[in-house]
Amino acid sequence: MGKSVVVIGAGIAGMSAAFDLQSAGYEVTVIESGNFVGGRMADQDINGINVHTGASVIFSFNKAMFDLIDELGISDDLYAFPDKNEGYNVEHGDETYKLKLTFDPIFLLTHPAFGFKTKAKLAALLPDMIKAGLQTDPCMMHTAAHLDDENVTDYITRKVTKEFLEKYVEPYFRAPWHWEPEQISRAYLLSLLGHIVGGKLLSFKTGIGHLSRTLGNRLDVKLNTRVVEAGYDDSGCRLTIEHDGATEAVTCDFVVCAIPGTLVNSVVKGLSTDAEAFFDTVRYNRGARIYYAVDGVQLQPRDTWFTRHSACKFSLFYAMPTDSLVPEGFKQPQYLQCELSPQLSEAIEKEGGQQRLDSYVRDELERLCPEAAGKVTAVAEQWWDNMLTEWYPGYTKGMAEFLKQQEDTPARMYFCGDYLSQSHTGGACASGRGVAAAIRRHWE
Ligand SMILES: Cc1cc2nc3c(=O)[nH]c(=O)nc-3n(C[C@H](O)[C@H](O)[C@H](O)COP(=O)(O)OP(=O)(O)OC[C@H]3O[C@@H](n4cnc5c(N)ncnc54)[C@H](O)[C@@H]3O)c2cc1C
Repeated sequence: MGKSVVVIGAGIAGMSAAFDLQSAGYEVTVIESGNFVGGRMADQDINGINVHTGASVIFSFNKAMFDLIDELGISDDLYAFPDKNEGYNVEHGDETYKLKLTFDPIFLLTHPAFGFKTKAKLAALLPDMIKAGLQTDPCMMHTAAHLDDENVTDYITRKVTKEFLEKYVEPYFRAPWHWEPEQISRAYLLSLLGHIVGGKLLSFKTGIGHLSRTLGNRLDVKLNTRVVEAGYDDSGCRLTIEHDGATEAVTCDFVVCAIPGTLVNSVVKGLSTDAEAFFDTVRYNRGARIYYAVDGVQLQPRDTWFTRHSACKFSLFYAMPTDSLVPEGFKQPQYLQCELSPQLSEAIEKEGGQQRLDSYVRDELERLCPEAAGKVTAVAEQWWDNMLTEWYPGYTKGMAEFLKQQEDTPARMYFCGDYLSQSHTGGACASGRGVAAAIRRHWE
């Protein structure tokens, strides 16, 4: 049996698959269109500010990822964030209150922002949460396919109250994830809630990109090289790759396609009609973030999440006087971090303003943080067309069918990524490791 593999995409999914296959004796090359490894799990220097290309934290329930971290011998480099017991500030209309990132029943039942009815009905959520916690894997959404029948807005309003939806669920969905709850299936909510009670959030002492950099150093990764087309038949795979304006034809025994699911149909040729139809159903949300380096004034730490009932253009605003979790030798300035609301991101996309984000929000920044006016020394803007997989009702069921077919049928081309697992780094890693295991099971 031939053992040459091309992995398309050096995100955490592709590199996890590549690492496992290389460890099992396959000859693996990773092709990456960008100029760094890690995709949406990396550190990047933009105008002297260390920014995250996507993820900032990893969840303690990511078993496949922590096993990999262990195998790479970098467990001692992990950093666990201290519990933020007092919670994050939330602005909801004229009201402000605190919320914790983890689901803490005692905190919620004694919370001054929720009325008696919400507290009494919260109990109704617990059996669903406990059941989902037992039935689902928080890294593998297909295990929650049986819950993929209702959106979060309808579910929470039916099960608890509109107040709980607007004051708890909505800021939670908007601030870190840029979703509105009506877009997302309750399968997503329950599969996570059931697992985050008592969980921890982690990163690495030298930045979130440490795992990607470590994998990149152990693999043969061709950066700035794009797969233009990839096809396959029973005997093997053919790719056309582009580097520095020149194209080259490459053949191999297997391909692991680890690019965002929305791009697959434009790159991969010869898919079955069903597979092509599945890839047409993949959606990601858009998202935008701006970092401002500030000098000449001492920033006070601040974190605020905004619901859509507040007038703010941001969904999240942080003031960070210090940030020690950066790559070795990097000197991070104190900075402000602003995540644009889903509504503003949508309006910017319609106007084609993705390259001038600052111009849309500088007034808001100066209103929220007047002491920074005239003291901004650098700006780093980030825009994602493919930010997080959108688990809209019905998607998970279709995804589960596609995965089952992939699991059951030996093939020359395999697919992995967050859109086939969960919209976090642990899901993407588990998905990559899963396809490596499937190739070995099918072909060895
Ligand atoms: C703003 C933001 C915040 C997030 N926060 C968190 C968080 O705190 N915690 C968490 O766990 N997760 C978080 N996530 C989600 C997490 O980052 C992703 O789910 C995960 O990193 C996806 O990994 P992946 O390998 O599937 O995809 P990607 O990382 O997108 O990798 C795909 C790679 O394929 C490359 N590529 C695309 N097309 C081609 C081509 N034709 N040829 C060659 N290469 C190609 C891309 O350049 C990219 O490097 C966040 C994401 C974003 C965007």
